[in-house]
Amino acid sequence: MARLTFLGAARTVTGSQYLLEAGGRLVLVDSGMFQGDKALRQRNWSQPEFPVAKVDAIVLTHTHLDHIGRVPRLVKLGFRGAIYCTPPTLELAEILLLDAAHLQEEDADYLNRKGLTTHAPALPLFDASDVQEALKLFRALPLGRAQAVNDALSFSYREAGHLLGAASADVELQEAGQRTRVVFSGDVGRFGAVLTKDPELAPDADYLVIESTYGNRTHPEITVIDQLEGVLKRTFARGGVLLIPAFAVGRAQQMIWLMDQLVSTGRMRPFPIHVDSPMAIDATRIYAQYPDAHRESLNTIGGRSLLHGKWVHLHRTRAESQALNDLKGPAVIISSSGMLSGGRILHHCRVRLPKPENTLLITGYQAAGTLGRALLDGASTVRIHKGELPVLAEIRDLKGLSGHADGGEMLRWLSGVKGKPQAVFVTHGEPEAADALAGRITRERGFVARVPAMGQAFDLAAAGH
Ligand SMILES: [Zn+2]
Repeated sequence: MARLTFLGAARTVTGSQYLLEAGGRLVLVDSGMFQGDKALRQRNWSQPEFPVAKVDAIVLTHTHLDHIGRVPRLVKLGFRGAIYCTPPTLELAEILLLDAAHLQEEDADYLNRKGLTTHAPALPLFDASDVQEALKLFRALPLGRAQAVNDALSFSYREAGHLLGAASADVELQEAGQRTRVVFSGDVGRFGAVLTKDPELAPDADYLVIESTYGNRTHPEITVIDQLEGVLKRTFARGGVLLIPAFAVGRAQQMIWLMDQLVSTGRMRPFPIHVDSPMAIDATRIYAQYPDAHRESLNTIGGRSLLHGKWVHLHRTRAESQALNDLKGPAVIISSSGMLSGGRILHHCRVRLPKPENTLLITGYQAAGTLGRALLDGASTVRIHKGELPVLAEIRDLKGLSGHADGGEMLRWLSGVKGKPQAVFVTHGEPEAADALAGRITRERGFVARVPAMGQAFDLAAAGH
């Protein structure tokens, strides 16, 4: 009988990794990094629970590190199969994995220099050469095209609406003449989100493995563009600069697109937008390469990408970044990192936060302990690069940009399922969120919904269709 084992994102949000066994063959769906506290992060170093060299393929749903971050290590440990993903995911994965390798090499180096490690020496989970080896195994598969992985497993991708290139994986297993269909939601986006397409509804399946990041929440109905217009106009009326810390992949492009909408619909006069992040510039180029993979085409009638409009200025070098210190409003600076945990955004904060005419606009989740969280909580002074500085700028939080469906939207996604699956496995959520969503699925749809534990395995019976 075919089998499914949960090797990550079970009763937690990160580390997505699911092992499928059928006909003596092994295939992984996602291989993500555990992120968060130390106990979780240490799982990244644990020995895989399966014979790595015997795995035929890894099917990736999207490019976020909690879905792809263990791939380079598996390659280092002997994985030589195919790594499938959508075409945009292939390109985004390259920049995200290389950036992650770089950060880990820096962290290990720092720990070794300061003698802060009990492991001698501290090592990165993977380095740039591991990433290069892994990238050689990547193969792009467009949405909607069936791919046979081996004689026991084939799959196709469906739009997940979470991020450029993000997909659900619709897998068919063959074992002893029995066919079993297992659908992995990946991360499911919101309906009516900024720039990203709506998710394609779930198809009928014997089993579904679904995410539950916000399974116990309801996102408020908020129009993002109206909030943004208000903040921009207020800041510009003071002669200030709007500073936007943004995740380089996804959020930065959404912000450029929203601002283009404000100008192109005549709600605001044009103003300069400065993108100060080499990674965001690379990601923006990839977004522009797929003009029709978004809610609306990104190309103007002249064939130029909206993301590369004439008011958008890209800054790659450090000198260009420093020159922005003298920039006068009205203007916008988009820089990373999104949680203000490092990167060029810190230099801009040092220059802009002590001045009341400016605004800092938070556009994403801010983890406890980050500078972004402290500012949102109303800190009147902050420490940046060992210097204390007053916070006189306006601090705002742009709401409504979540990349994940809420509980109601996950049920809407499941409304595509007309038959009765054998079971729905609820993953990729903290226990409260996963349990709440599982409860709703049972109450509202009458499906068997289970929240698997880490390492738990299930035999998959075919429904006989
Ligand atoms: Zn994701």
